[in-house]
Amino acid sequence: MGSSPIRGRPASSPHRPAHRPAAGPIKPDSPDKEPTLKADPFAQLKLLDVQDLDARIDRLRHQLATLPEQAELTRLEKAGAELDRRLIDARTLVQDLTSEQEKVDADVEAVKVRRVRDRDRMDKGLVSNPKDLERMTHELVSLERRISSLEDDEIEVMERLEEAQTAFDAHTAESVTTRERLDATTRARDARAVEIESELSALATERVLTAEGMPADLVALYERLRAGKDGVGAAALRARACSGCQLRLDPAELDVIKRAPSNEVVRCAECQRILVRTSESGP
Ligand SMILES: [Zn+2]
Repeated sequence: MGSSPIRGRPASSPHRPAHRPAAGPIKPDSPDKEPTLKADPFAQLKLLDVQDLDARIDRLRHQLATLPEQAELTRLEKAGAELDRRLIDARTLVQDLTSEQEKVDADVEAVKVRRVRDRDRMDKGLVSNPKDLERMTHELVSLERRISSLEDDEIEVMERLEEAQTAFDAHTAESVTTRERLDATTRARDARAVEIESELSALATERVLTAEGMPADLVALYERLRAGKDGVGAAALRARACSGCQLRLDPAELDVIKRAPSNEVVRCAECQRILVRTSESGP
């Protein structure tokens, strides 16, 4: 079973040439054994115009899908979202420290009120018992220490609050700037998109007019090739080369193509695209 023929052909043939013979029976059309298509040479030339319009439409669609303004917008939106998160954190910190400051302020006030009351009682001679006097003197010393410690806390909280407020103000300013840039970039992107869409619409109209009356089988073959070959279905034979794959044709191939009837739709043997003979095809 190991040497069974593949698709009725011998596994190897010593007579099969590695390359097509230079002057052999080259069929310039239908390299993949499709029936030879006939089309008016004028329609074939017009196919190049259609190809040119399709290429321009493809380029514009690609531009529209990859606008640099859109990439910038995506970047700004991401930065804006990150900034919003930092802004929320900064605002929360300011609120927390404001509450903390109010609490320390209230604590200082409460201790000061007690100090005033104690001093008042002593000044008015309401504390006469020496033991009570001593206790009260101690309490006043302790109150002084407490006030001093709370005032230190007050200063520390105030400094932290100032710092947090500065950071919050900076984030707010940055957020405003980012918002403005987002708006400006959105406007620029929209303006560019409108421009491209208007060009696309004009080209689409031109394409319809250019393709009008073209043979359906030629257009169908062109569309099928275009879909599988990077958007290029038809190429001009220019200066002895296929402008689709840029490969130069050898003289024998060129000769066969030139001898083919002008209404025969020739295909590039290399890339299989429709090869349209033009006045610049080369001698
Ligand atoms: Zn080619």
